[in-house]
Amino acid sequence: MKFALLGNERIVAQPHIKGAICPKCHTEVISKCGEIRVNHWAHKNKIQCDEWMEESQWREQWLDEFPSEWQEQIIERGMESHFADIQTPNDTIILLHQSHLTTEIIKEREDFYLTPVWLINAGRYKKDVNRFLKCFEQAFIKEPKKIPENLRYSFLLLSEFNVDKVFHRSWLSCHFPVFLDYTTATAGRDHRYAEQLDYLWCLMPYSVQGFRILFKFTKQQLIEKLIHMKGRTLEEMKQLEQTFIKNHPHLY
Ligand SMILES: [Zn+2]
Repeated sequence: MKFALLGNERIVAQPHIKGAICPKCHTEVISKCGEIRVNHWAHKNKIQCDEWMEESQWREQWLDEFPSEWQEQIIERGMESHFADIQTPNDTIILLHQSHLTTEIIKEREDFYLTPVWLINAGRYKKDVNRFLKCFEQAFIKEPKKIPENLRYSFLLLSEFNVDKVFHRSWLSCHFPVFLDYTTATAGRDHRYAEQLDYLWCLMPYSVQGFRILFKFTKQQLIEKLIHMKGRTLEEMKQLEQTFIKNHPHLY
């Protein structure tokens, strides 16, 4: 955990601070200041009060890309509360993950957060990196051929038939955009399509004429996008899909 409460103030971990508490469960936390991970807080009772939060160095680096008051916000719905890694003023809730979640867990969290997007450390697993690179050898990802001139913005297509050969199946059941961060990959760096790992790939949750829609961003472009992006509910995601279908009568 990056922030604790000391009095009414949100503070980052520093050595020798006593009396700080977790902003969610209000039990005491202790500062962990070592060399391996950046300074952080841990519950003194060693029980992480929110098992939905997945701490890692990769997550900490992403948190730092956004204003501190957007980070580790507590979302309350009825009796339940969970941390949102990042909540923007436009209500986009960015969920940072690097483990493979089950379909049930994904559904539960999407239902809870209402306007989430997923940001995944996809470069962490050699197997995921290798199959992603292989899809370029096999030309699974294509450019659309028939885009009306007035709507020319760049997106790419991946046939539904091949989508599970390219991306880990955990992310295929999401109902919200999944941003896959391959920039962390160490595997595949000598591959002939290795430059594709320098981008963040967005897998949209809908299928149009048998294709999944993909967007590709540099890290800086994605940060800009997330800062300004409007958080969409499931209903609004469905409207977005309908608009996309209407605007693209012939994709390929
Ligand atoms: Zn706690």
